[in-house]
Amino acid sequence: MRIAMVAPEAVPYAKTGGLADVVGALQRGMNIKGHDCSMFLPCYERIQNNHDIKQILSGLRVNVGDRTYYYNVFSLDGAYFIANDFFFNRSGLYGDSRGDFPDNAERFAFFCKAVLQTQSTLGIDPEIYHVHDWQTGLLPFYLYQESSYEHDARSVLTIHNAGYQGVFPPSAMTSIGASKEHFGIDSLEFHGNISLLKAGIVYSDSVTTVSPTYAREITETSLGYGLEGLLSAKGVKGILNGIDYDLWDPSTDTSIHINYDVGKRSKGKSACKKHLCKILDMNDPALPVIGVIGRFSWQKGYDIIAGSLTKIISMGFNVVILGSGDLEIERSLRDIAVKFPGRVSVNIGFNDALARNIYAGSDLFLMPSRYEPCGLAQMIAMSYGSIPVVRHTGGLADTIKDHRPSRSSGTGFIFRKDDSISLLRCLGRALKAYNDRTVWQRLTKNSMMKRFTWDYAIDQYIDVYSSENRVSMN
Ligand code: ADP
Repeated sequence: MRIAMVAPEAVPYAKTGGLADVVGALQRGMNIKGHDCSMFLPCYERIQNNHDIKQILSGLRVNVGDRTYYYNVFSLDGAYFIANDFFFNRSGLYGDSRGDFPDNAERFAFFCKAVLQTQSTLGIDPEIYHVHDWQTGLLPFYLYQESSYEHDARSVLTIHNAGYQGVFPPSAMTSIGASKEHFGIDSLEFHGNISLLKAGIVYSDSVTTVSPTYAREITETSLGYGLEGLLSAKGVKGILNGIDYDLWDPSTDTSIHINYDVGKRSKGKSACKKHLCKILDMNDPALPVIGVIGRFSWQKGYDIIAGSLTKIISMGFNVVILGSGDLEIERSLRDIAVKFPGRVSVNIGFNDALARNIYAGSDLFLMPSRYEPCGLAQMIAMSYGSIPVVRHTGGLADTIKDHRPSRSSGTGFIFRKDDSISLLRCLGRALKAYNDRTVWQRLTKNSMMKRFTWDYAIDQYIDVYSSENRVSMN
């Protein structure tokens, strides 16, 4: 099958979160399975600076509304980069320290139109456009709307997080080139504004999301953030993400202190833990270490972590945190770290090597998310033998099996309520298991042996691409 994977980020080129891992792995997996899958990304500053991309087309023009934009196309290994310096030669992908870029609607409208317009010049002629999240939600709209494009092509939208909807004021209708008739409830309008995610849902042929439980949550509960009715009417298939075990393997990872596999996990993890404690000035490597990595946000439950940290320390855990995001959460985490030197380490920023050292050197990995479409971090943690402690939601519910003393098949610890008491109780269960060497050995073995490969997910996506569920808007 000929597929164009169109996304705002993908590894190894640009990453702010799990979406990038998923898109990169999907493209690679599709090609390994014999499909012809190309990838389209905006040509951000970091891609121009860090990758040996080659310019293959120049001086192209595309009209969006009454504006004409010029662009070039670069390429590397089956990926194509749409370059317009005004829109994409910035250090942030979607914003900077002042917040989201105010021209995000124009930036991604331009990107979607340029991708569609470039296909015939490149001779790609895709059968499927697979788009991801609100940034590419306009592509199905343009594909549906403009008869000049290849109309046999279908589009599939994958929602990686329904909480981010690409909402802009009605005035953005002009800058994305949408006529007035589309400012209505059955088209782009969303509570008096427009939503680019909604555009993708309405005009794509099929909608998927990244775990079966999250598919239920966004169609049946308020986790659809106002789109649950539309999503339920459209139908959403939940396809559980995998992780790329070539990239997340403690036996080959060059960023960690020493390599280990499931057979050598005790020795390997203990050496990696000592190293982690040393580089982060933690004062007692004998204590169990909890790792936390991710975006500091309400969604991820970081406020629950901040509110529980003092008690977590008094239970006898050390805690290592890496991430950035909400400034208030950042400040409260830093304040606690100052009070507990050598027991809590808070590291602000995006640091792939440190993340890998935390996965390898921690005993437990905490994700108290209020909602979690899929979550990759818990699967990565499992691969490195760090036992997940998670809230029962979305992909966390689909990937972790709760440890019960009477069962031997557990892979982690699950709690249900989004509050400190439930989190601390769950950590109490984890501590008890940690202190029993036989139980802990079994848990780490179960976790490291659990595999979430892409193979099955890719077959499911191919099924979706092949289904006859064509869009039927009037
Ligand atoms: P998200 O909702 O942010 O996409 P996921 O769990 O699906 O969360 O994926 C997060 C990915 O980003 C994982 O690969 C994780 O290791 C990585 N990551 C998140 N924050 C950081 C950080 N501050 N530094 C390095 N890697 C990070």
